[in-house]
Amino acid sequence: MGGMVGIVDAGGVSIQLYYALYALQHRGQESAGISTFDGTSLHKFKGNGLVADVFSPPVLSDLKGSSGIGHVRYPTTGARLPENIQPLNFQFQEHFISIAHNGNLVNTCELRAEYEQAGQMFTTTTDTEIIAKILIDAISNSGSVEDAVRFCMKKLTGSYAVVILIDGIIFAFRDPLGIKPLCIGKTENGYMVASESVAVDALSAKLVRDVKPGELIRIETGGISCTQVAVAGRRAHCIFEYVYFARADSVIDGVLVYDVRRKVGHKLHEEAPVKADSVGALPDSGTAYAIGYAEESKIPYVESLMKNRYMGRTFIMPTQKEREKAVRIKLNPIPAHLKDKSVVLVDDSIVRGTTSKRIITIVREAGAREVHVRIGSPAIKAPCYLGVDFPTREELIAHDRDEDEVRKSITATTLHHISLDALVEAIGISKDDLCTGCLTSCYPLPIDGEKAKTCQVDFTDSTFQSRLGSFEA
Ligand code: AMP
Repeated sequence: MGGMVGIVDAGGVSIQLYYALYALQHRGQESAGISTFDGTSLHKFKGNGLVADVFSPPVLSDLKGSSGIGHVRYPTTGARLPENIQPLNFQFQEHFISIAHNGNLVNTCELRAEYEQAGQMFTTTTDTEIIAKILIDAISNSGSVEDAVRFCMKKLTGSYAVVILIDGIIFAFRDPLGIKPLCIGKTENGYMVASESVAVDALSAKLVRDVKPGELIRIETGGISCTQVAVAGRRAHCIFEYVYFARADSVIDGVLVYDVRRKVGHKLHEEAPVKADSVGALPDSGTAYAIGYAEESKIPYVESLMKNRYMGRTFIMPTQKEREKAVRIKLNPIPAHLKDKSVVLVDDSIVRGTTSKRIITIVREAGAREVHVRIGSPAIKAPCYLGVDFPTREELIAHDRDEDEVRKSITATTLHHISLDALVEAIGISKDDLCTGCLTSCYPLPIDGEKAKTCQVDFTDSTFQSRLGSFEA
C-alpha cells in the first residue's frame, strides 16, 4: 500500500504535489518523497515521517519544474530504511528517471534472480527497484521509452499502480486486474494521476475517470494519451479499499466510499438488529458505518469515544504492547454517555482483535452495561499478499475462531460481521471483480500454498489509443 501522485502542469508542480500527498496521507505515514523535472535535471527530496514534517517551504521552492511525482509510504515490516523511501531516482544514459509504486508484486524473487543473473545490482529490498531495473534494461534494449514501459508492464505479476517520471514525461499504469486504485484528474494547466480522487479534490482539479486496469497513461506538456496495454478476463479491485483503506470522501471506480460504508451500516442493522440506547463508532474508521446503522435502526447516534486527532493510526506501532498503550491515548471515553447504557459500537474491521478488546474494556470501565459490536467487513481470515499489511494467519483473531469465539475473546455482549454478499451489494461491483483473498482465502493470482481463481491476461501492442485532451495554451 501507499499513495502516489503524478502531475504535469505548466505553472509548476511542487506545491500541488505537496497538497496532493497531504490528501493521501492516510495511505502511508512512514515516509514521503517528491521528485520534479525542470527540463534539464531532476530535483528530489524525501524523508521519514508525515508529509508536513518532511517538506518545508524552502525545500518545496527548490523542487523546480513543470512535472513531478510524489509518494507516501505505508509501513511494512523491516521497511524503515532510508534507501526504501520512494520515489526511487535513477540516471541512466541521458535519461532522468523517478519511480513510485503502490502494491506488491508476487513474482519479485523470479524477477530479481533473472535480472541479477543478467548483471544488475540492487541497493534496496523494494519491488519498486525491480520495476526500475526492468525499465532501464528495456530502454537500453529498445531505445524507446514508451516501449520499455509497456515491456515492463508485461513482466510484472501482482498488484501495482505505478507512476514514473522520465525526462519530464509521466507514465502511469495500473495492473491488469485493477487491484490498486489510480485515477486521472484535470488541473488548471495540465493533468494528474493519483491513488485517490481526494488528491484531485485537494487541488480543485476535476476528476476525469479512473485509470482502467491494464491501461497506460502518458502525460506530458501538451496533453495526455491512454493506451490499453493489457486486458484481463476479470477485475480484482481490493475490497479492503472500500472497507478501510480509502478515505470515505474518495470515489473509486465510480463509487463514493462513504456511501458504501453507510449502506453497509444499514445492512448491519438488517442482519443483526439489537435494542440499545445509542449507536457509536470507533472513530474515524467506523463513523460512516455507525451513521448507517443509526439511520436504519432509529437508535440515536451518540459519540461516546472521542479521538485525539493528533495521533496516527495505532497499527503503526511496531509491538503489541505499544499498540495497546496507544489505543488508550488515542480514544477517550465519555462516561456520561456510557454509564448504565446498552451501546452499539461499530467499526470497519477486526484484524488482530487488539483494538476491539481494549475499546470494549474502556467502554465497560466507563459504565456501559452492554456492548454490541457490529463490523463493516466479514471476518478477516487470511493474509494479504497484494499490498495490505495483514499479519500472518496466526495473528488474525478470526483465522481459526468462529464469530462466537471472537466475541468471547474481545468480550463483546454480541458481535456481528457483515456478510460478504451484503458488502458486495453495497459496493455495487460483482463479487468476481473484487479481490476478497483476506476474507475467502481465494486469491485472484497464483500464490504459493493458496487457492486462486485466476484468469487469462492478454497483452496487446496497442488495442486502442485515445487522446483524452490537450492542455489549453
Ligand atoms: P486490530 O484488530 O487491533 O488489529 O485493529 C484493527 C483496526 O485497525 C481496524 O479497526 C482497522 O481500523 C485498523 N486496520 C486497518 N488495516 C489494518 C492493518 N493492515 N493492520 C492492522 N490494523 C488495521
